[in-house]
Amino acid sequence: MTSAPHLHLDVDVVVVGSGFAGALTALCLRRRDLRVALVERGRHPRFAIGESSTPLANLLLEEIADRYDLPRIRPFSKWGTWQRARSDVGVGLKRGFTFFFHRPREPFGDDDGHERQLLVAASPHDEVGDTHWYRPDFDHALVIEAEAAGVVYLDETRLETAREATPGMVLEGVRRGGRVRIDAGFVVDASGPRGFLDRALDLGDAGTEWLPDTEAIYTHFDRVDRWDRLFPSRQTPPYPIDDAAVHHVFPGGWVWVLRFNNGLTSAGAAMTRETARTLAAHEGAAAWSRLLHMLPSVQAQFADARATLPFVYAPRLAFRANRVRGGAWALLPSAAGVIDPLLSTGFPLTLLGIERLLEILEATRPGSSRDAALAGYERVTLDELDTTERLVAGLYAAMADPPLFKRLALLYFAAASYSEAVRRLGRPSMAPGFLLCGHPRFGVELRECSVAALSRPAGDARDLLIARIDRAIEPFDIAGLLDPGRKDWYPVKTDDLIASARKLDANRSEIQCLLERSGFVTTRLESG
Ligand SMILES: Cc1cc2nc3c(=O)[nH]c(=O)nc-3n(C[C@H](O)[C@H](O)[C@H](O)COP(=O)(O)OP(=O)(O)OC[C@H]3O[C@@H](n4cnc5c(N)ncnc54)[C@H](O)[C@@H]3O)c2cc1C
Repeated sequence: MTSAPHLHLDVDVVVVGSGFAGALTALCLRRRDLRVALVERGRHPRFAIGESSTPLANLLLEEIADRYDLPRIRPFSKWGTWQRARSDVGVGLKRGFTFFFHRPREPFGDDDGHERQLLVAASPHDEVGDTHWYRPDFDHALVIEAEAAGVVYLDETRLETAREATPGMVLEGVRRGGRVRIDAGFVVDASGPRGFLDRALDLGDAGTEWLPDTEAIYTHFDRVDRWDRLFPSRQTPPYPIDDAAVHHVFPGGWVWVLRFNNGLTSAGAAMTRETARTLAAHEGAAAWSRLLHMLPSVQAQFADARATLPFVYAPRLAFRANRVRGGAWALLPSAAGVIDPLLSTGFPLTLLGIERLLEILEATRPGSSRDAALAGYERVTLDELDTTERLVAGLYAAMADPPLFKRLALLYFAAASYSEAVRRLGRPSMAPGFLLCGHPRFGVELRECSVAALSRPAGDARDLLIARIDRAIEPFDIAGLLDPGRKDWYPVKTDDLIASARKLDANRSEIQCLLERSGFVTTRLESG
């Protein structure tokens, strides 16, 4: 028997993991003329979870596409351009974040005050709408772009070891029966949580501090009914309720429903370990049936639905690495940690990390010391994960208390819309870190209010907490989030942004230019 030939690569950077994050990172590095290898243990197209994008994530994708001159990637940053330029790549329309708060074993019901709802629009019309990425198509499309740009792509490759060398790292493994050796100046780990370097270097799980242990079950379905067909609203919502990331929240967990344009719908549930035990989550499909039985209105939505893939059971959803970088390696944020799908924080965290890491790798040539810059990268990556964890932990604690949950969620929406606006104005330093976590006032308040919610306050303590959250939001509220007249249905209104010019350190005409440039308004606004 003859063994397959030995493959030996010598590159500037090797990226491990070819999800959207690894493929995009490899593509950008190649655009800077670096020699890049992209290594994948599986092969495309393949199922991947994590599908719902956000305005900030899309803006970051747009920024990266512009900076690295990637005109074939840029259309993926908006529903309209995606539809026109890449109709071959599956996608869903996401006009906002829809939350319904359910009482177990009761049909969903609400009044015109929307006490058990929260609808936050993310875009004023479909053309500039956000998207759900159908990852089998999307990730594959990015890998094809990376290969076309000259990235050496090795799929079906099982990497076994990683060791430091001078300079750089040496990775070794097996591909289709033959040995592989890669000498690289730097390793970017994009292989997801508990991924390649975590195992090869035994980095260890720091665990979560605030969030209770959580589990998840999920898959793709066809024939999922529309909520707005089954339960039409008496008033006109700010966007079609189902063209969104739909969250069905109940005490101890929540269900997501994300519709794609290819007839498929992604759905699943994240839940506390206690809820998971009650449902016997490890049984997958049977647990899903038990969950639907507990949520009769969601059950109606899934009455004719059929899972198109086996259920995935994730016994430990959250993860946080102890270390994020070494002398010649770094984990992308998506490999350094995952908190929860709630609020779709994974993509923006990952894209922010990609931007930062690319800057570091460009600023220093292979072989020179990047220690200080990588230490900064590690610090901000862990800070952002930590802040996200606290907010999500507070939200889990408030799942049985919709008014408090909604107030905490508005902290996210305030930070996200403010960050998007200042970035679009070309002033990213006004939004330090994801969720403004590096902001001396907002960041501290967000963390402290989230932790205060963990004790499930009642009575005066709860009222005081809600008032404190409102005070934290006010200086950053550019979307009418504190207007009680909106009754927790928040459309995107250009007037809100214009009226908030002062908070953005901008004048009226700068805001008008921003609105026109970003396609939020299609006709010229009158100046004045
Ligand atoms: C249940 C769930 C739902 C989520 N929903 C959302 C959401 O709606 N919105 C959002 O923003 N974020 C969400 N996230 C987070 C999101 O999934 C991640 O941010 C995103 O998938 C990161 O993409 P990635 O390309 O870094 O990693 P992945 O998509 O995990 O891709 C990693 C790739 O690396 C490969 N790989 C793994 N190990 C190796 C190895 N040893 N060698 C070579 N290759 C390897 C894998 O095969 C895979 O192709 C969710 C996370 C979970 C767990």
